[in-house]
Amino acid sequence: MLKSLARRARRTLLASRASFSKNGARSTEERPHVVVVGAGFAGLEAAKALAGEPVRVTLVDRNNYHKFQPLLYQVATAGLEPDSIAHNVRDVFRSADNVEFQLATVSGVDPERREVATRSGTQIPYDYLILAAGATTSYFGVEGAEEHSFPLKTLTDAVALRNRILRQFERMSRARKPDGDAEARRGALRFVIVGGGPTGVETAGALTELFRVMQRDYKRFDTTAAEVMLLEMGDQLLGSYPRRQGEYTRAVLEDRGVQVRTGATVERVEEHAVHLQSGERIATDTLLWAAGVQASAVAGFVEEATQQEGSRRLDVASDLRVAGQERIFAVGDMGASRDGEGQVYAQLAPVAMQQGTHAARQALRLAEGRPTEPFSYRNLGKMATIGRNAAVAQLPAGVQLEGFVAWLAWVFIHIAKLVGFRNRANVFLDWVINYFTYDRSARLILPGVVSISERIPREVEEVDAEVQQVLREIEREAEEA
Ligand SMILES: Cc1cc2nc3c(=O)[nH]c(=O)nc-3n(C[C@H](O)[C@H](O)[C@H](O)COP(=O)(O)OP(=O)(O)OC[C@H]3O[C@@H](n4cnc5c(N)ncnc54)[C@H](O)[C@@H]3O)c2cc1C
Repeated sequence: MLKSLARRARRTLLASRASFSKNGARSTEERPHVVVVGAGFAGLEAAKALAGEPVRVTLVDRNNYHKFQPLLYQVATAGLEPDSIAHNVRDVFRSADNVEFQLATVSGVDPERREVATRSGTQIPYDYLILAAGATTSYFGVEGAEEHSFPLKTLTDAVALRNRILRQFERMSRARKPDGDAEARRGALRFVIVGGGPTGVETAGALTELFRVMQRDYKRFDTTAAEVMLLEMGDQLLGSYPRRQGEYTRAVLEDRGVQVRTGATVERVEEHAVHLQSGERIATDTLLWAAGVQASAVAGFVEEATQQEGSRRLDVASDLRVAGQERIFAVGDMGASRDGEGQVYAQLAPVAMQQGTHAARQALRLAEGRPTEPFSYRNLGKMATIGRNAAVAQLPAGVQLEGFVAWLAWVFIHIAKLVGFRNRANVFLDWVINYFTYDRSARLILPGVVSISERIPREVEEVDAEVQQVLREIEREAEEA
């Protein structure tokens, strides 16, 4: 009731401020234009909050889908198909007349001219801009890490990693006589993960489950040689969780066969090995880099803004506007917003979603000529799964859960948060089947999927061209063979 009254009052106020065309008719084109960059957790919520409001909204993303990043590791480990965790953006806004989607890669922001530039050369003018382009992998300057490891930020990354894992098994099953020295052979089936945060832990646990399935797939090849190694620089896994939960996580992973190394700092990476600061060389053909994130390159496009060293996140004021910018907001993984104690909010989906909604409301307030309000986060807790029947959760009011109950909560919360009924139904069904059959049914090698770097924004056509080129090479190789 209160909400609808507020909405009606806002519409009246904005309408009275809207300019009129020469013949006196009010033009929709002249409503304030809000551009939202990124259809991830923050951008999608921002656009949803603006749907039906007296503004024009353009939502820009380089993909035509929203992806559910927390389940990327499930795709990488053959638990789910990529399309189960992605949803078409146009479909979300089908009935929102004032929201337009534009498929484009943003390549610049000009605050003076109030324009966003795209790689295809178009300029999108804005009255208010919400930057929600997320984060990309940070390699902390470790030599060779970027060239020789797999990131896990996009659907393409997840499928590329899945391809590699499955191909390694195919390759080793074909090797009639031992190929290379013993250490190199071990490296072929040793899967090393750098970073003992939630992504590293979840992937390590899921890999052990995948390997059990692989044992059934290969009749004449001993797959038990496959190893999972988890390297963490700090002294506990899940460093942002209480120590007890970190220790529980380690115990469960070790029990399932994961080699956990804490205090292990990677010094450099080469094609078939990772070198630790301790001088140890670990042979591996497959390295997952799950160690760090930095704000998307889009953050650097606001030249006047300050970026946090290391994380590249944009400094924002309490209302989420980029420091020194009247009309630009940065939310989610891109903005470094702080709580009442000065701590920067973690890069988590619920933070991004709440910030997206908040920035949208502040843009409306500015359009109405009203002052903005500070953002405050409603803590919804956080959780990480270790695999079948095991998870850790930190819920509001200090409630901590471990084991089966936490795992069940994790399963249902993740299903509930997926976008689209079809995705929720697919994931639910896949998980029920996988749970009872001990299977991971998405064991498909999809040729031509290359891991495409997120650092250089490229227009979709260029990416397509690259994929087509790789496909042609694969076809040529197949013909030659
Ligand atoms: C593997 C993984 C696991 C995670 N697990 C969890 C978890 O369990 N729980 C949790 O709370 N959080 C988790 N997170 C973190 C969470 O996903 C992020 O905090 C959240 O996605 C941030 O939302 P965002 O909207 O800021 O960015 P994103 O959701 O990343 O969205 C950014 C969007 O911007 C688009 N974009 C980027 N650059 C451009 C450009 N130049 N032009 C146009 N569009 C662009 C991208 O395509 C993307 O759609 C995980 C993250 C990863 C990578």
